[in-house]
Amino acid sequence: MKKVRVRFAPSPTGPLHIGGVRTALYNYLFARQHGGDMILRIEDTDQTRFVPGAEDYIIEALTWLGIQFDEGVHVGGDYGPYRQSDRKPMYKRYADQLIRDGWAYYAFDRPEALDAKRKEYEAQKQTFQYDCRTRGQMENSLSLPADEVQRRLDAGEPYVVRFRFPENIDITVHDLIRGDVTMNSNLLDDKVLFKSDGMPTYHLANIVDDHTMEISHVIRGEEWLPSAPLHVMLYKAFGWEDTMPQFAHLPLLLKPEGNGKLSKRDGDRLGFPVFPLDWHDPKSGELSSGYRERGYFPEAVVNILALLGWNPGTEQEILSMEELIRLFDISHISKNGAKFNVDKARWFNHEYMQMQPDETVADLFTPSLEAHGVHPDREYVVKVCGMMKERISFISEMWDQTHYFFVAPDSYAEAAIRKRWKAGMTTHMAKMIDILNSQPFEYQPLHQAILEDYIAANQYNTGQIMNSFRLALVGDTKGPDLLTLVMMLGKEETIARLQRAIDTIGEVETPAQ
Ligand code: GLU
Repeated sequence: MKKVRVRFAPSPTGPLHIGGVRTALYNYLFARQHGGDMILRIEDTDQTRFVPGAEDYIIEALTWLGIQFDEGVHVGGDYGPYRQSDRKPMYKRYADQLIRDGWAYYAFDRPEALDAKRKEYEAQKQTFQYDCRTRGQMENSLSLPADEVQRRLDAGEPYVVRFRFPENIDITVHDLIRGDVTMNSNLLDDKVLFKSDGMPTYHLANIVDDHTMEISHVIRGEEWLPSAPLHVMLYKAFGWEDTMPQFAHLPLLLKPEGNGKLSKRDGDRLGFPVFPLDWHDPKSGELSSGYRERGYFPEAVVNILALLGWNPGTEQEILSMEELIRLFDISHISKNGAKFNVDKARWFNHEYMQMQPDETVADLFTPSLEAHGVHPDREYVVKVCGMMKERISFISEMWDQTHYFFVAPDSYAEAAIRKRWKAGMTTHMAKMIDILNSQPFEYQPLHQAILEDYIAANQYNTGQIMNSFRLALVGDTKGPDLLTLVMMLGKEETIARLQRAIDTIGEVETPAQ
């Protein structure tokens, strides 16, 4: 088998959609598994759709996710340049070759003439297509006399070069996911390959580059399957059939509900990002949110995307990049679109949160603590993170789950007061303070003194007393094991919070049960 060389070939027309990220990932997994090369090629032939910053965004996003390139616009390599606009001078030669060999022709039709033609067809409820049946009615080097064509070229008239599909032949694309896909040439339009401004279109540039960069496998989105017969024909036309890459067209990423391609609007509507990183649109100034800024771990995003359209053939869901490289198999890619599942994405991040060392979680949490004006001891933060990370999926949820470790409550939940703080509670809480002052400040002795010697021995209501105690420390009835929390807060702080609750809530008349 020839050396595996794959490319990810985005067009810098905006932020990279996660569907594109998945394409890059599958290429990467395939390249690494086969000890091959992974190439980043920027396809910027359509200058009208060029968006400044998009190329840097693509590189930053893939770097964040750990998708590394052996060659490309940002790392160089032996097959460069890797940006199509920098390769511009080489494409004309190939367009000329196709014209010379009868595989392509000059077309001089002005946009207005093409529009008029389209309208003419529409009036008869038909769709105009520039193809083997209509090209004879148009102004091109197949319909015009040779001297007229030459005259127009010499006069510098604008033209495009179109591919000349042979009439009525079946073209078969061997797809590694879908098997053989056959299309008849009569259904295909004579696509533009090259324009008189010297720029190739995607189709020509893509084939020339894949050939000259010795690409072995083209793994890309399903939206390119309709173009694949043209690409196969181009390889034939150039005489490159023997080294034509193998194709794999990946299924679409679908909306969480219903059908249709996952769009930015779905993300906005359902509250999840469809881009890897935040993107500020340079024109509109609009912000689209990214996985990174939402607090997703890059490893989780890789894992989520890997399983959208592919599975390892087992029930295993948590897979590292190394495992994915080992297990990836194109024949396990689904032919059907993969539905994005927001809850599942969250679940994955929760799982990756649990795998983080407590120190890492603390690092991630520190900016949030600072924003809340607290600067606790590092060791204390690490400990809190270790205790509480199982309750969160995103670091942004940590403050809500842990604020009482760092600041005393300034209010007490009404419902909890009503349910737990009954008559006599101030006396019970004062007793808690006594116990804390008289016992060694350790878990077991306090447990014995409070739960056994005081509550059980007097047959008091454990739930009411312990939850009121919790209310004093937390301001609500949430939180970890109470005495663990007491140990964390320390004797002084616990006593101060109990006293504050006694003073603030005070004695009530509702009888204890
Ligand atoms: N530039 C194309 C895109 O952005 C690449 C398609 C291909 O991989 O051939 O989707």
